Amino acid sequence: MSTATLADTGIIQITKACKACDHCTSVCPTGAVKGLLGQKHSIDYKTCINCGQCLINCPFGAIIDTSSVEQVKQALNDSGKTVIVQEAPAVRVALGEEFGMPVGTNVKGKMHAALRKLGFDKVYDTEFAADLTIMEEGTELIHRVFKLAGVAGYEDRGPLPQFTSCCPAWIKYAEDKYPAILPHLSSAKSPQQMFGAIAKTYAANKQGVNPADMVSVSVMPCTAKKYECDRPEMKASGFQDVDYVITTRELATIIKDAGIDFVNLPDEEADKLIGTSTGAATIFGVTGGVMEAALRTAYEILSGESLNKVEFTAVRGMQPVREATVEIPIKDLGINLPVNVCIVTGTKYVDKVIEDVLAGRSKYHFIEVMNCPGGCINGGGQPIRHEMY
Ligand code: SF4
Ligand code: SF4
Ligand code: SF4
Repeated sequence: MSTATLADTGIIQITKACKACDHCTSVCPTGAVKGLLGQKHSIDYKTCINCGQCLINCPFGAIIDTSSVEQVKQALNDSGKTVIVQEAPAVRVALGEEFGMPVGTNVKGKMHAALRKLGFDKVYDTEFAADLTIMEEGTELIHRVFKLAGVAGYEDRGPLPQFTSCCPAWIKYAEDKYPAILPHLSSAKSPQQMFGAIAKTYAANKQGVNPADMVSVSVMPCTAKKYECDRPEMKASGFQDVDYVITTRELATIIKDAGIDFVNLPDEEADKLIGTSTGAATIFGVTGGVMEAALRTAYEILSGESLNKVEFTAVRGMQPVREATVEIPIKDLGINLPVNVCIVTGTKYVDKVIEDVLAGRSKYHFIEVMNCPGGCINGGGQPIRHEMY
């Protein structure tokens, strides 16, 4: 029996429908698409980071992603399984497009109702786990800053600058091309994986469910999340954190196949895993969002002040590489620390930033990298805008 995982085989495939137009080579951030104009194209899986940008931009619909839809349907029909689902912030503002609703319509309440009609036993919002990621990444950044400042007890912490770690396409790019940069990456799991780990431990225990009988499904805007959930290290509890990832597009197909009148569904709330989320993680889906949320956490912890009025608007925007300096008062050390941050949207723009860090000439303390242009909102699992072609 084959032991190959999605991490070995890749998520994205170019089919026989390829018309050799060569457009996908221009959107691929890593040069993984191979072929010339007039030749059927193929993918080099050693350098493909599973981001799906080629898929959503192919004018002929010739590129597909590996699907777990049938496995999810089987789990929903298995009375011996408790099937839970989490949905990421970028899904709720895109799913409506698949049902003819205006671009950007927030269909969170209808989506929760549809997921319950499909038979999911618990419907959760990934925002709760995104709060955990913010706390982890923000605290890790503080500890690395303490190390730099020579505070005793933090000598073993990682180096600065710290890179964010919640985009699996970016992580694979770093592993493939710049292994020397890995100590700079945050050790925090992504919100999807944190949620899965908590579901199979705390939530399973609270619900009296054997984790072996729990099936954890994610709805994501992202094809690379399918690769991430299948990584061998994503099972620290002894169970796979997330069993199946389906994209925004695939959820729409499942809802249509079930004959659910999505547009007319009444709104429903998500189930609560532990408590309410802060809502800060809603901005995770857009470039600069993780940075802004983590900076807010670091500011409040280091200054000892709550941050009601200060806005980190300098990290917002759509340019591929942006930088800002945020002054953070460190109460315990009695100093104001200027924290230099950088936001990269589009992996193809990150090379110089990494090379500066490795050469010791980077001025940054914290760097956010999201692979897709503008962030997860334009991820490879989102609706394909056919009207563009
Ligand atoms: S964009 Fe689509 S049709 Fe054009 S070369 Fe790539 S896979 Fe083939
Ligand atoms: S999935 Fe991303 S990295 Fe892989 S071939 Fe397509 S665009 Fe390139
Ligand atoms: S930017 Fe978001 S959607 Fe795109 S690969 Fe990264 S996590 Fe996935």
